[in-house]
Amino acid sequence: MTFQDFNFEEQLLDGILSMGYKEPTPIQQQTIPLILQGKDLIACAQTGTGKTASYLLPVLNSISKTDKKHTHTLILAPTRELAQQIDQQVEGLGYFTGISSVAVYGGGDGIVYGQQQRALKDGVDIVIATPGRLIAHLNSGTFKAEHLECLILDEADRMMDMGFLDDIMRIISFLPKNRQTVMFSATMPPKIRKLATSILNKPEQVTM
Ligand code: AMP
Repeated sequence: MTFQDFNFEEQLLDGILSMGYKEPTPIQQQTIPLILQGKDLIACAQTGTGKTASYLLPVLNSISKTDKKHTHTLILAPTRELAQQIDQQVEGLGYFTGISSVAVYGGGDGIVYGQQQRALKDGVDIVIATPGRLIAHLNSGTFKAEHLECLILDEADRMMDMGFLDDIMRIISFLPKNRQTVMFSATMPPKIRKLATSILNKPEQVTM
């Protein structure tokens, strides 16, 4: 299987080539077609399998076909480090697509908060956020999510272990009901299955 088989936009294929990816990894082969079809999905995958590009590639492809007026995709991640890594992959893979992104996380000073505020106000295409800091931006009205089309939860088990369940549910209360939701988790304990049941709509399942 090759990346051409997904019928990706030309600029996205150029980005994949520039990152040196030769062929889709097993998790990418299974999840990309489902996400491209707009399905909700729960995927069990470890770091190092190419899980990030599994959801970024279909999202980048969809955004490159829109008129890019509002934030299209929100990615929730447990830590600042992971949020920054995801943002770097967006920049690499999406380099030729003109898609914009911002990583929003806690810590830093007022200048960092102000920079995040301005990027969110400008209607950036992809927001990658840790839950606590995003709530601050939702409460203050800087981040408006009513046109959001896709929500991704990365490392959902770690977010639960870090006590982010209430924050995640509060964030979801700001989002349109009619959206695509995708969850990635390294483990599938009962609390993750319960979360999946409450926030996913007829999800497909992929386990590696
Ligand atoms: P992840 O599992 O998302 O943390 O990705 C692990 C590493 O694999 C990252 O450095 C990615 O850039 C890289 N990667 C993702 N997909 C591919 C691929 N299809 N071919 C080669 N490397 C990849």
